[in-house]
Amino acid sequence: MSEISQLMPQKVWKIFDLICSIPHISKHEAALAAELTKLAANAGLSAVTDETGNVIIKRPAAKGFENFPTVILQAHMDMVAAATGEFDFINCAISPYVENGWVKARGTTLGADDGIGVAHALSLILDRDFACGPLTVILTVDEESGMSGARNLAPEHLQGRYLLNLDGSDKGFCVGCAGGARQETTFIPEYETAASGKAVQITVDGLPGGHSGICIHDNRGNALKILAEFLDREPDIRLNRINGGTADNAIPYFAEAVGITGKDIGKLQAAADACTMLIKKELPHAQNLTLTVKEIADIPEKVWQKNFTSNLLNAMMLVPNEVIDFDDTLNIVKTSSNLATIRTFDDKVVIRTSQRSLVDEDREKISAAIATHFQLFNGESEMGDIYPATPPKMSGQLLQTTIECAKKVGKTPVSPYAIHAGLESGWFFMKNPDLEIITCGPDHIDLHTPEERLNIASVGEFDRFLRELLPALGN
Ligand SMILES: [Zn+2]
Repeated sequence: MSEISQLMPQKVWKIFDLICSIPHISKHEAALAAELTKLAANAGLSAVTDETGNVIIKRPAAKGFENFPTVILQAHMDMVAAATGEFDFINCAISPYVENGWVKARGTTLGADDGIGVAHALSLILDRDFACGPLTVILTVDEESGMSGARNLAPEHLQGRYLLNLDGSDKGFCVGCAGGARQETTFIPEYETAASGKAVQITVDGLPGGHSGICIHDNRGNALKILAEFLDREPDIRLNRINGGTADNAIPYFAEAVGITGKDIGKLQAAADACTMLIKKELPHAQNLTLTVKEIADIPEKVWQKNFTSNLLNAMMLVPNEVIDFDDTLNIVKTSSNLATIRTFDDKVVIRTSQRSLVDEDREKISAAIATHFQLFNGESEMGDIYPATPPKMSGQLLQTTIECAKKVGKTPVSPYAIHAGLESGWFFMKNPDLEIITCGPDHIDLHTPEERLNIASVGEFDRFLRELLPALGN
């Protein structure tokens, strides 16, 4: 037991303290799931673990609430592993402590994302003195690394009218999220022997990058596009390879190409400088951009044929990117695409893109359009993982009651909003489109970093809010 088990409300903090004591990063949630199932079973509740490892706990309606619809409280058990130094997340417990009104962990992520959601849900279903309608608690695995828990959850567990996804923050009530898709496109290079010249490396660096859902509307600049545009203007550079970008869900801040040129390096750098100046004028976020051309010792033996190079550069330059469609009512991006990475292998060049949309059909359309685009330049696309959207719904009984109850307990802000990123709720809505879904939670910040922390007062406030809301969700 750590000092956080003494915080108020104790019912919530004791469970969160227990969660911290059992290692539970993504794909290693079994020990925690077993402990939580035991807690529920000991309290006389029906608790099962499904084949994927999700825990489902059910409690019938309390006396006087028999006619109430089922409410589902849902949170994910897994946490992200990030530490300031070496840390064995598989075998070692998180060590939480209190600091200036916040709970933090020593040197690691705290796992309040989403352990505190789990603790809130369990504290209510285990509390015999808390009366409400029929309650289901769903605790999923693997949210942070692919959402396989939500994806594989049987629809029978999602019978109910209202679902509260407790993986949110206190920024209001999230009523919708984007779905997403990943796509991989392969180009087969044709090579020829290199003519004589100097080996040259062209590097784009210093862009801000960022999350391709949350930051895609920011005009941050895309290193792959900038590099392709520069190389297209310098056809004397005969290319051997291009690499860049870090992950499907990140805006690329870095890219580099290697080739052979007969041109003067100084002149190429001057052209690169002119190009950089122009981009900086257009993109306020790109003030640290660098585009450098330098001679390197290692001369490639072969280079791409001109036709292949021009196809690849055109494919990169012209592919639809960033904001495709904007939702003016919600004031967020509706549909977007991210030209994410390019990798050169011996026998192929692979480009990865990812698409997101609040509307699944729109996402499918833009994914198909991008595949057709790449095909025009001899690229072969294959769809990867997809996850569905929760279409934002700005009305409904759940939202109305939620706002009323939040106001009663003084929880602010109460405004509904949607996000251009994915949540597990997309899968739940797909399996039961009759569900009204809201994502909310207490105040926790710096998620996915060793600075992650949870505001103590907001946990009490969120507990009061849930205790007000659930008995109010009648017919
Ligand atoms: Zn989360």
